[in-house]
Parts: sequence; C-alpha cells; structure tokens
Amino acid sequence: MDLIDLTVSEAAQLIRKRETSSHDLVRACLDRIRAVDATVGAFVDVYEKDALSEAHAADNRIAEGGAARALEGVPVAVKDNLCVTGRPVTCSSKILKGFIAPYTATVIERLREAGAILIGRTNMDEFAMGSSTETSCYGLTRNPWDTGRVPGGSSGGSVAAVAAREAPASLGSDTGGSIRQPAALCGVAGLKPTYGYVSRYGLVAFASSLDQIGPIARSVRDIAVLLEIIGGHDPRDSTSVKRPAENLVSSLGGKIENLRIGVPKEYFVEGMDPEVKEAIRAALEKMQSAGATIVDVSLPHTEYAVATYYVIATAEASSNLARYDGVQYGYRAPHPTDLLDMYQRTKSEGFGAEVKRRIMLGTYVLSSGYYDAYYLKAQKVRTLLKKDFEDAFKLCDVIATPASPTAAFKVGEKVADPLQMYLSDIFTISVNLAGVPAISVPCGFTSNTLPIGLQLIGRHFGEGTLLKVAHAYESMTDWHKKQPKV
Ligand code: GLN
Repeated sequence: MDLIDLTVSEAAQLIRKRETSSHDLVRACLDRIRAVDATVGAFVDVYEKDALSEAHAADNRIAEGGAARALEGVPVAVKDNLCVTGRPVTCSSKILKGFIAPYTATVIERLREAGAILIGRTNMDEFAMGSSTETSCYGLTRNPWDTGRVPGGSSGGSVAAVAAREAPASLGSDTGGSIRQPAALCGVAGLKPTYGYVSRYGLVAFASSLDQIGPIARSVRDIAVLLEIIGGHDPRDSTSVKRPAENLVSSLGGKIENLRIGVPKEYFVEGMDPEVKEAIRAALEKMQSAGATIVDVSLPHTEYAVATYYVIATAEASSNLARYDGVQYGYRAPHPTDLLDMYQRTKSEGFGAEVKRRIMLGTYVLSSGYYDAYYLKAQKVRTLLKKDFEDAFKLCDVIATPASPTAAFKVGEKVADPLQMYLSDIFTISVNLAGVPAISVPCGFTSNTLPIGLQLIGRHFGEGTLLKVAHAYESMTDWHKKQPKV
C-alpha cells in the first residue's frame, strides 16, 4: 500500500510498530503535495522543514522505546484560521497578511500533545464566508475529483488536501456547513461537533454563536480518534462545556439495531438533484437492512433557516471583524493622509467583496430601528429551529439528510450570484443554529463520478451515537475507499 493512502489510524499503528517511519510518511505527503498541489491548490503554506525535523524526532522517540502517543508522527493539515505561535494566520484575507499568531489554538496544542505533526496551512474562503473556496486572496482550490469544479467551502483546502491524499487528516471550521458541505463534495468524512464540545481558543472568530472546529478524514474511525483528542473542556474558552471525557472510539463497531433514524420531510424538496436523492434513499435502505428503523420526522421551520442564519452570522461577523482596522493586525493601507483615511482605505483594500457584503448586512441588521425587525426576530426563529430538533429527537436517535442539494458545481458557476451560493448550505445551516452535532460521510457518486454526502445529525452531545451510526454505514459500503483521479 502506498503511504499516502493510509488513514490516520493505520499510519499511527505502522509507525508505532516501526513498520514504517514518520519520516517516510511525511516525505510521501510532501512529495504528493509537490506533485498535485499546483493543480489542487489546497495549501497556502507547507511546513516542509519543520515537519521533517519533527518526524525525525518522532522516529527517534519510538526507536528509544518512548511510549508512542495516539498520533505519534502523523501529519495533519490545518485551516488558515487556526493560530500557531510564530506562524502567519490570515483567514485567506489580504487584511491579515503579515500577521503572526502570538499564541497557539487549543486544538493544535492537543494534536501536538498527541504526537501529530503540522504539515501546513490550508486555503479557505475569506474569513470562512463562502461555500466554494473561491473568495480566498490566494486564489481558488479545486475539487480533486474534477478540477473544473469547486471543492465546496469554506474549508475547501482542508478537505481537498485529505481527498487528494496530500495529508491523512485535517482540521476545518464549520459555522454553517463549512466542514460537511466540502466533505460531501470531495468524498471524505467531516464532522461538526456540538456547540461547546471543542475549544475555539485560537480560532479566528467569524460568527461566535455558530463557529465550531472539527476533524476531516478518510474514515469515521479517524474522525472519532481526532475528535477525542481535540474535544473536551478548555478553561481558555468559556463556551467550551465541562463534561467528563468520552471514549468515542470505543462506541464504534456496535450494532445499530433498534436505533431509529429520522428522515425530515422538509429536506426532500423540489430542486434537489435526483441523483443525490437516490443516493440518500439507498443509504437509508442500507441502514434499514442493518436493523435500524426509519421514521418520518418534521423540522417545520426549515424554510427559514438560511434567512435566519444570514442575519445572525452577518451580525456577529460585523462585530468580530471590526477589529481589523489597520492598527493592530496585518495589513495597513500605505501613505494615509489622516486616521480616517487610513481606516477607510485599509478596510476597502484589505477585505474582499463577500466579506464587505456581510459586514454591511450585519451592521444594518444590528442598527437601531432595524435591530428588532431583523436581529431579534432571527433570534426568535433560531429558538424555534432548535425546538424543531428537540421535538424530532423525541421520535428518533439520529436524523439523516443529504449534506448538499447537489454534487460539486463548476468553478465560477455561483460567484456572481450570492443567493445561489448561500443555498448550497440549505441542509447544513440549521444544525449550527440548533448547536447539534452532524457528520457527512460519502454515500455514492453521480453519473459523472462526483461524490455525494450523507449527513447524519445527532442530539446535543450525542457524538457517540452519531459516530456509531456513521461507522456502521461506512462499514457496509466502500464509497470512502474510492479515490479521485487527480
Ligand atoms: N457557507 C456558509 C457561509 O458562507 C457557511 C460558512 C461556514 O460554515 N464557515 O457563511
């Protein structure tokens, strides 16, 4: 087997047994990046020298009989909105060019404590606003299955890197679908945890009541391994929840007999690609054949989810992004005539069109006179959407839906039409508004060989059951083993 084909769990085991070395694995990933990334564009920075020297250190530790940690010597890629001390972090925005992170995100500290090696920083939509990874200041990322198409977004770089076997796993962030939608479009697994499951300390904020960091990998087992490492309370993030540590990996492999899988009627609407619909139907049948019961459920406020999200997310973004004023972070417009000119030109030159659109919309919905009509109303609808899930989970244990209404679309197809772009997340957005966890796993292909993703949604802190169902489904199929031609 080629080293780049290994999953995280397989690689860690081979390194531990000294059947391969961390050095050879990291080298293989770096060679793969060199061979394909000029086309795919997943990375904005590759840490070749440091990754190789860390690999060397990992191999030495193991040779000296040191206790091998869970991810000893395994390379992982991270999205360009996660801070690592001494390294640039830019959210793929010109406004953060030149900014060096002064501290390290908790998730990255935890990966490193488990022995993982950072291999590079990945491309994203500017400030994680988008569904196609076309709004980055570095240029676009391409879908490894068809390079004329987008990888989805905003974590398109993290996902494409895993799909193209440039890294066995990565971290992304998900505010409205940014892990699950690209995972679906690139044929890999990606999970957004329950709000509060994973610390956001060191994640550059987009919309703070929605953002979560999550793992992307080529198997559900790897997702469980990574989530177990990055999850859990962190005193440095007051929104991270204090709960006893969970053994997610041990919940895999159990039977799904007697589990009820809810199918919301509102998610099977007109306009959905018939091939996606068919793949989800077949996936449900598979799970039924393994003993699960399929039940009809209703999430009646679904039609308001996208509008609600674009009020709340933009409001929070306008507040979070106010700090980029040319004084403390990254880019500053040259030769200002006075302070106001400096502020104005820094923001005009530093932010891209989509980010500006959202800052304006968010400022508007928060402004006095409009606050009640938009922001407050959206918060009320958010409560109804959350209640929809609570009601549905009285009837089922997990909810199954498509992760995206279509497979990967063409590069450029939706850039000029923000509304069409916003609709790409129609099936993922409610999950963030409700704060529940969800995973996307590969469940088929269209007739032109583009991956399709099945989204499974769990109860608050129901990651264990969610992963168990996802794993049971994955073990009955081999969609996750197919590889793109790039
Ligand atoms: N595509 C959605 C947006 O543009 C979600 C982004 C995300 O999850 N970061 O806001």
